[in-house]
Amino acid sequence: MTIGVPKEVYPLEHRIAMTPSTVKNFRKLGFDVKVEKGAGEGAHYRDELYELAGAKVVSRSDVWKSDIILKVRKIENNDACIEDESLGEAKCVISYVYPGSNKEWLEALGKKYPNLSYLAMECVPRISKAQKLDSLSSMANIGGYRAVLEAFQYYKRCPKPMMTAAGKLPPANVLVIGAGVAGLSAIGYCKSFGCIVKAMDTRSAAKADAESMGAKFIEVSIKEEGSTAAGYAREMSEEYKKAQYELTKNTAKAVDIIITTALIPGRPAPKLLDDEIIKGMKPGSVIVDMAAEMGGNCSGTKPGHVIVTANGVTIVGFTDLVSRMAPQSSELYANNLFHLLDNMGGAANFAIRLDDEIISSMCVLNGGKMVWSPAKPLPP
Ligand code: NAD
Repeated sequence: MTIGVPKEVYPLEHRIAMTPSTVKNFRKLGFDVKVEKGAGEGAHYRDELYELAGAKVVSRSDVWKSDIILKVRKIENNDACIEDESLGEAKCVISYVYPGSNKEWLEALGKKYPNLSYLAMECVPRISKAQKLDSLSSMANIGGYRAVLEAFQYYKRCPKPMMTAAGKLPPANVLVIGAGVAGLSAIGYCKSFGCIVKAMDTRSAAKADAESMGAKFIEVSIKEEGSTAAGYAREMSEEYKKAQYELTKNTAKAVDIIITTALIPGRPAPKLLDDEIIKGMKPGSVIVDMAAEMGGNCSGTKPGHVIVTANGVTIVGFTDLVSRMAPQSSELYANNLFHLLDNMGGAANFAIRLDDEIISSMCVLNGGKMVWSPAKPLPP
């Protein structure tokens, strides 16, 4: 059974779904591996390294002639590139898909390829036994680090306090909004850089997590649980939102950097920083909106761009934070895929088992039929 790894064509996507060091793991599962020529370049993985590891480096048309296609981004079908014409005999594609936004395209794909199954990497359930395949977590960890680096790229002061003969310099004050995986990673790096860090989240469980990373957790006085029974964030009441707005507004005036990571599964990112809050921030302060790709937590965010407001606040809206760390994010993503294919039986017993709760949660197309519905837990 053959795995094909095409080059990613999505703008600014430098990751690749398999790295040279992970090729041997897929081969141990019994798969032959084909990698498109030059596919690893964006992550500094040269073709020779793939060949040394036992993969075949092939042309773009050849790579699609594989049983399983592993990708990072969903198959493209736009003016610049039509990948779904290339699918040929592939039985299964695994990548991020976002079925809520791509339902019609998926249905059409299923009609065109009646044997095709598609597994969505963002639909891995957030349960203990699926942790090894949970790429949202592995990517969020790396993204949190990169968000901190980007913040200090634009913040023109030192992160940690300094005592010099010429005078004292204070530490940077950081607010992290959303203390999930990405937020906790950002808190950890800000603390290690010597910053003073505050964090807020609507889930009560996030308090202990944020505090364990060294942040001061700030909360509104209204008692309302922000977590569903399954542990995910949910939309809060209007009363809570108003109170959170006031708390954010007052805190934003005093901090130098805000890193926002807030997401609610299946909904656009909540808008938590508006023009009024941003107007109250100090000139020179920086917002990194990690939710930019999902609509942004900040009203001023321009996805993919850095803007500076009239009062001198820099808003970083990069949507490729994880891709900017492509060598390591590719490595972790490839490991997540390896654990998935191991879980699916390797080459010898490969099957889409819908009685497996991980696979049933991830499967959006099964044998050409749409099996995803909005009733399934939605990806963020
Ligand atoms: P996420 O990326 O979906 O969201 C980021 C954070 O934003 C969350 O902590 C959320 O509570 C917070 N948020 C949402 N609305 C907010 C608002 N208005 N203000 C402030 N914060 C807000 O989160 P995630 O890191 O992917 O984690 C989601 C859930 O999944 C958590 O309960 C986490 O513990 C759980 N999880 C489980 C596993 C596992 O068992 N495999 C792995 C990772 C995460």
